Amino acid sequence: MQKGHIGVTTENIFPVIKKFLYSDNEIFLRELVANAIDASRKLRTLASFGDFKGELGELNVEVKVDKEAGTLTVSDRGIGMTEEEIDKYINQIAFSGAEEFVNKFKDSATSIIGHFGLGFYSAFMVSKKVEIRTLSYKEGAQAVKWVCDGSPEYEMEPIEKADRGTDVVLYIDDDNKEYLEQSRIDALLKKYCRFLPVPVISGKEQEWKDGKYVDTDKPKIVNATEPLWTKKPSDLTDEDYRTFYHELYPGQEDPLFWIHLNVDYPFTLTGVLYFPKIKSNLDIRKDRIQLYCNQVFVTDSVEGVVPEFMMLLQGVIDSPDIPLNVSRSYLQSDRNVKKISNHITKKVASRLDELFKADRTDFEKKWDDIRIFIQYGMLTDEKFAEAAMNFCLLKDTDGKYFTLEEYRKLIEAEQTDKDGDVVYLYTTDATAQYSYIEAAKDKGYNVLVMDGQLDGHFISMLESKKEKTRFVRVDSDVTSRLIPKEEDADAALTPDQVSMLTTLFHSQVPKVEKAEFLVSFKNLDSKDDPVLVTQNEYMRRMKEMAATQPGMAFYAEMPDSYNLIVNTAQPLVESVLKEAEAALASELKPYREIVERDNKKLTELRSEFKDNKPSDEQKKEEDALMASVDAARKEQESIIGSYAATLPKVRQMIDLALLGNGLLRGKALTEFVRRSVELL
Ligand code: ADP
Repeated sequence: MQKGHIGVTTENIFPVIKKFLYSDNEIFLRELVANAIDASRKLRTLASFGDFKGELGELNVEVKVDKEAGTLTVSDRGIGMTEEEIDKYINQIAFSGAEEFVNKFKDSATSIIGHFGLGFYSAFMVSKKVEIRTLSYKEGAQAVKWVCDGSPEYEMEPIEKADRGTDVVLYIDDDNKEYLEQSRIDALLKKYCRFLPVPVISGKEQEWKDGKYVDTDKPKIVNATEPLWTKKPSDLTDEDYRTFYHELYPGQEDPLFWIHLNVDYPFTLTGVLYFPKIKSNLDIRKDRIQLYCNQVFVTDSVEGVVPEFMMLLQGVIDSPDIPLNVSRSYLQSDRNVKKISNHITKKVASRLDELFKADRTDFEKKWDDIRIFIQYGMLTDEKFAEAAMNFCLLKDTDGKYFTLEEYRKLIEAEQTDKDGDVVYLYTTDATAQYSYIEAAKDKGYNVLVMDGQLDGHFISMLESKKEKTRFVRVDSDVTSRLIPKEEDADAALTPDQVSMLTTLFHSQVPKVEKAEFLVSFKNLDSKDDPVLVTQNEYMRRMKEMAATQPGMAFYAEMPDSYNLIVNTAQPLVESVLKEAEAALASELKPYREIVERDNKKLTELRSEFKDNKPSDEQKKEEDALMASVDAARKEQESIIGSYAATLPKVRQMIDLALLGNGLLRGKALTEFVRRSVELL
């Protein structure tokens, strides 16, 4: 019997393994099964080259629980190992720099494993003793047993073993008894081994007998050795893809479509990515893309590994270049992984482009469901954004779809403003903004539907990427001014008329919570409404952004500010103004005279001290005149105000405009209804 010291330069690697890997210790099973699979495949390869001439037989791997003996055994019928090989591969584990890496990777133990070829040693995370019994495929080989109890001491001796291959026997320690439960092992195999390329057997098939499930004699194969992504796309039907999807993610709706990845240069990569149907919002999915390395499950926490927007996709990516058993932070910084991730982005984009070109109707049908992926992709990934400009669609209020280029062509002639900007009109709510949409359409404009969760950000992106592009919500101004073609004329009113109208209307604006109204006058079309309410595009967007972004609370706190535009060309407004003039002229006259007189005096006074500092006396006189003007104005306002209060017409015009914008609520709404009845 040979006794020896495992070639670890530091004291003892096992406590380190145990301690650091505690939380992840279940991966030992994957490591051992993966080794067994490797050994089996190697033998198959040798046979195919004629280097192994014996009987291959079934190359199954078996995982066996023996609760009584307290052991878990992983057996294969692969190449096995000779004594020299055990010495070389197991004893002299290649980590001369053990101390260094332990220090370096303290924080993430999984990176120790695997990265340094510690796969087999992970068995010690759950075992008090590990035994290897192995017989090499080489002719005349002697079977050997290797035993180690977790100290750096091991023993090795020749044994009798009939079958070629390796049994790794774990004597499960007291803290890890769970690994002696068949159900636990089944669950682990399902997680890590369900797509391994060699049949893995564990436990027995069960059957329904006398009211319960009982074991049969038939060994249970836990994996599908040829999962869908390893097959040729041309050999697969849509149904195959859907079935596989439901196998991966039971209980979900059919995916919208999928992309079969099949790359062999500059690296090998296969996989299938699914676009799931997202129901409500951008929920962080728990059923995410799974990463595999040669059909061995690596991880499904793919954050930072796949491009961010692909976190919304599902499916499988398999590449031998994805390092097995390393920590996530290691995966994220791995150069291969980065390349893979960029490449997937490219692939997904070109596939979408193909789908779009091949069957535009179908693509349009799916657009409402997939736009969230595409917009998210465009917002978070420069390269994807570039590629997606070709197949990213816009939808108008008639349900027609356009590419960005098509749409620009469509609206360019009608919707270019005086500065040469092409103005894209849009609605965020086709029902609430119905009257604005209709008015815009009447004017020959087209209106886009932008009601998606990402549309706000998407709009900003398009504006910054596309020159001479401006998005304007259809209700942000009166229709005739949405796309200003020339400087428009303000209402031609005398200052007295302006102040009369301003007070008339301003005094009648009801109090609306968290809203502010700025009254202005425009000489619009006589057929336009008498009063219009619009909201400034810029302010509205700021507030919308503030709602989702911290640090912008300032904007969020501000009341919504609206423009109350009084259309002075509208007959009703005209008549209100005329009537008011007639009714109030004599009453206002003295105050108007004061304003006129004192304003004149003010101008004169100011021209006296024009470039110099006013003397104390001049200053006093100026203050007095200003106070007098002010008082006279206030007096007028109060006269007009009390008069306006007797005019239900003004109030009614304002309320109608507010009502059309959903701004008439509570008490104001009740009053409106009562007043309407009275007027009738
Ligand atoms: P890795 O698999 O990363 O090389 P391991 O520590 O898991 O590291 O295994 C070390 C070596 O031991 C393997 O490369 C292989 O040569 C050998 N080995 C492990 N398990 C088996 C097995 N079941 N059959 C044959 N050889 C094995």
